[in-house]
Amino acid sequence: MLSFKLIYSDAYYLPIGDHVFPAEKYRRIRERLIESGIAEAQDFLEPEPASDQDLLLVHKPEYVQKLRTGTLSPREEMEMEIPYSRDLMEAFWLAAGGSILAARQSLTDRVSISIGGGFHHAFPDHGEGFCMIHDVAVAIRRLQHDQQIRTAMTVDCDVHQGNGTAAIFAGTHTVSVPQPSVAGLRLNPTRPGRMRGGRTSEVFTISLHQHNNYPLWKPPSSIDVDLPDGLTDDDYLAWLDNALHTGLRQFKPDLLCYVAGADPYKEDQLGGLNLTIEGLKKRDELVFQVAHAKRIPVMVTLAGGYAQHMEDTVTIHANTVAAAKGVFTSGVSS
Ligand SMILES: [Zn+2]
Repeated sequence: MLSFKLIYSDAYYLPIGDHVFPAEKYRRIRERLIESGIAEAQDFLEPEPASDQDLLLVHKPEYVQKLRTGTLSPREEMEMEIPYSRDLMEAFWLAAGGSILAARQSLTDRVSISIGGGFHHAFPDHGEGFCMIHDVAVAIRRLQHDQQIRTAMTVDCDVHQGNGTAAIFAGTHTVSVPQPSVAGLRLNPTRPGRMRGGRTSEVFTISLHQHNNYPLWKPPSSIDVDLPDGLTDDDYLAWLDNALHTGLRQFKPDLLCYVAGADPYKEDQLGGLNLTIEGLKKRDELVFQVAHAKRIPVMVTLAGGYAQHMEDTVTIHANTVAAAKGVFTSGVSS
């Protein structure tokens, strides 16, 4: 048995028909975790849906009302890039509830992983890019509201920039901090990455993403790492290490929210980076090792993953659980 909980429901499934988003991946990840012995049935907790009050901690009342009543305009539905239905709405309410539960569990178990969520392109007043509700932001705001945490850091490793996250947490209470140093990085000089940023508030946002990819408009995170096309494992890991340490030098979060997108994978249909399955597992281990060493609780959501072969996406996400098991259960028999 794991020393931490996995949050999952069959109702995480997104009823979106034939779509590049592999909605059945959640069920397959759970099966894979059990088949491979990484987890057992008792390791999973079933979430409750978030309440409308929870969603309203992040989203505008008019938007929540439109979703509740199925009255999005055709343009709003098009921008979301998934077909609205009542069942779909309920799946997003549940994903938000799953992220709240994962965040709470992580405070006692040091880590918790929702086998879903990570809908980082949702904004307070609209959805975009397959995202209706920003589950991670809802979880942060709910735990802050309950005074379980004061501060949080998001570490978004999906190949697409966390534009919703950046917009939601771009508060007016930001202060300037020095540009992060990139000295000591081992980078391929012909393919330089770029780190920009230097703002902070009660939620510190880090996004590592492919620069030449959706979203076209990238609102500033606290730290954005704009990665060049085709970046490979070692350079990616060096940028991630730098971003994590730069962020944690400036900011001490009560909770780290890791958005573990599988789409930096070299065979992803919507990504243009060149990471291997092994490199992605090292990425997960790096995030967990840093959080473990600094005793920061970590809640994990899965976000995107559009590999040509869905089983690769399943492997990458299952490896995130294996990586957490390796880092957080040393000394605990399984
Ligand atoms: Zn993505």
